[in-house]
Amino acid sequence: MSVAVEPVKEARLPLEVPHAPKPVPPPAPVGTPVIDARSYRFWYGDTQALFDLTLAVPRRSVTAFIGPSGCGKSTFLRSINRLNELIPRTRHEGDILLEGVSVFSRGVDAVTLRRQVGMVFQQPNPFPKSIFDNVAYGPRLNGLAPEREMPERVERALRRAALWDEVKDRLQSPGTGLSGGQQQRLCIARALANEPEVLLMDEPCSALDPAATLRVEELMVELKEAYSIVIVTHNMQQASRVSDYTGFFYLGRLIEFGDTKQLFTRPRDERTEAYITGRFG
Ligand code: ADP
Ligand code: MG
Repeated sequence: MSVAVEPVKEARLPLEVPHAPKPVPPPAPVGTPVIDARSYRFWYGDTQALFDLTLAVPRRSVTAFIGPSGCGKSTFLRSINRLNELIPRTRHEGDILLEGVSVFSRGVDAVTLRRQVGMVFQQPNPFPKSIFDNVAYGPRLNGLAPEREMPERVERALRRAALWDEVKDRLQSPGTGLSGGQQQRLCIARALANEPEVLLMDEPCSALDPAATLRVEELMVELKEAYSIVIVTHNMQQASRVSDYTGFFYLGRLIEFGDTKQLFTRPRDERTEAYITGRFG
């Protein structure tokens, strides 16, 4: 006697949208935030700069930090990749987790951490080296790939940073010879060549003209498919254009954090509202 087996229904997957080949992002653990700050506090000497920061940065998204100057946005970014520990007489309490692991734990070394957490600054700062060597710098330092694989790796990073077509014929020219906007994309490529999880961008467009700014903004939106991006910006239009989540910093505290659209249209805190409507800062 044969047992009737119900035929297995074929899983219906949504039709794939055709698209240009993109680097396949590694699988992301669902649900866990990429960066998780827990009651984080920070001091320069005797002066406390950050108070009790608790927030979870969602993965594969753009998170913007806004707020007046001097409110601790850069200090927080530099805490995530431990750049602050290069500044004498600083200390912290509380914790910051990257992928669930404290960045301060003994097993985490700063060079590895900074490979995983790339950073781009306000002023594009290419090394006084060729375009090629700028991008190859991190992978060489971190021993990520043998030299024969470097051309491919450099090309991939330059393509991801939307710079390849503009520089492919002059890879041996100095990085410092590029325009400001190109230099900033070169710095982004340099960070991406390390295959980071997170890209921190501290006012990356403040020194760029409007066209170059637009280019970098478009790039951020593309990159969030594969990376988690945190950007500090003074430009509220920029925050609302590119970010999914926004945090408002004021006097070393995170006043409000949430969905960008909600924060800009229905802020919960009156200080957030005052800032986004231009009443201070
Ligand atoms: P933001 O990026 O929001 O403008 P910062 O993180 O740069 O703010 O600064 C936060 C506070 O920490 C400010 O009061 C600033 O003066 C102070 N600060 C920043 N860097 C240093 C430093 N290297 N040494 C001492 N104080 C600092
Ligand atoms: Mg700053």
